[in-house]
Amino acid sequence: MADRILILGGGFGGIATAIELRGLLGSEAEITIVDRRDSFFMGLRKLWVLVGLGTIAEGTRRIGALSSRGIRVIQTEVRRIDPHARRVETDADAFAADYLVVALGAEPRPDLVPGLVGQAGAFDLYDVTPVTAAAPRIKALERGRVVICIAGLPYKCPPAPYEAALLLHEHFRSRGVRDAIGMTLTTVQPTLLPNAGPEGARWMGEELTRRGIAYETGRKVVRLEPERIVYENGDLAYDVALVVPPHRPPAVVKQSGLTGEGDWIVPDPATLATSWPCVYAIGDVIHVALANQMPLPKAGLFAEAHGRRVAAAIAAEIQGQPQPPAFDGRGACFLEMGAGQAALVQGDFYARPQPAVKIAPPSPETMEEKRRFEAERLRRWFGQ
Ligand SMILES: Cc1cc2nc3c(=O)[nH]c(=O)nc-3n(C[C@H](O)[C@H](O)[C@H](O)COP(=O)(O)OP(=O)(O)OC[C@H]3O[C@@H](n4cnc5c(N)ncnc54)[C@H](O)[C@@H]3O)c2cc1C
Repeated sequence: MADRILILGGGFGGIATAIELRGLLGSEAEITIVDRRDSFFMGLRKLWVLVGLGTIAEGTRRIGALSSRGIRVIQTEVRRIDPHARRVETDADAFAADYLVVALGAEPRPDLVPGLVGQAGAFDLYDVTPVTAAAPRIKALERGRVVICIAGLPYKCPPAPYEAALLLHEHFRSRGVRDAIGMTLTTVQPTLLPNAGPEGARWMGEELTRRGIAYETGRKVVRLEPERIVYENGDLAYDVALVVPPHRPPAVVKQSGLTGEGDWIVPDPATLATSWPCVYAIGDVIHVALANQMPLPKAGLFAEAHGRRVAAAIAAEIQGQPQPPAFDGRGACFLEMGAGQAALVQGDFYARPQPAVKIAPPSPETMEEKRRFEAERLRRWFGQ
């Protein structure tokens, strides 16, 4: 009987795993993806929607299209995961697997920020529905105060709120209203962009200041009120607040026992194997502590690299080949700056005694690379 490989989650990591497996194994195994969604698009599109630079539809592809590559796609809710038995219950059916890959991502939890849900003028920057609702407000704004607020940890794509601030600055500038709009970025973290180290934090601060965007670090949100964010140490008024809520894994992951006592699955950082035989966990649903105790950033690029490594490991085992090289913690995240420029936060996140992460200065070429990042993957995965 063919080996059964069950991938939970058809996002960045899950799709990359399935495509890589199919490439390595030919028709040798049964590869199944389970996801509640019927389509895939990249998170980076949300920021383009916010400032009118693109639509979600342009970057959306049907996950079901993977069936033409011999990948079975089942659209349903995962209800129960038994890692011992490698058995999964869903709304559609129960599935048993020889190999199980958990790629269920991290969920933004606006409900953990008191007063955010349903607050007029305040929007969850990480959810497509509120972002789509915020876009016309941004487009119509002529004066007032915009606050970008990193309210909780962890959150995916650490540069994204900074990108939002820089893109909004450029948007207001191009409309000639920037001088009438005050902009502030606040973060609960002790420094800006901590993954990029002290030098990166300094650079980020200079870039914000140069554009007249105020920033405040170590600002812990108590609650949102109409037109006002209440922090532990003072208030900030807003006309539009774009809030990054803390993320948590889907409830089914926690209930499975895969997270132990903690919130996240903690696999082997090099192999992404969990303590259960033939069960792997990849992407945003995992926690990997770096040498400086910061977590490995939750980013699509890492989810993809994890997926490729796990696929290579499973294929090698099935084919009786030696195991592939370890996931090495190297990677890069784009930091879009507006005006057709992007910088690159890149390096060796697993380096010791400190992650060796640097920011390559902004350029139009890096911005082009970011656009290619999306286009190439959509083509490779979905053929268009
Ligand atoms: C605004 C923004 C900008 C970003 N920009 C970038 C960028 O420029 N570069 C980059 O590398 N990353 C970026 N990211 C981060 C990137 O989107 C994530 O890190 C990436 O999607 C993680 O991949 P994943 O496979 O772990 O999880 P996901 O892609 O989130 O996939 C998880 C999947 O699991 C499914 N699922 C969850 N629970 C269940 C369940 N119970 N039953 C069925 N299905 C379920 C979900 O529907 C989802 O499709 C950005 C994110 C945001 C929000």
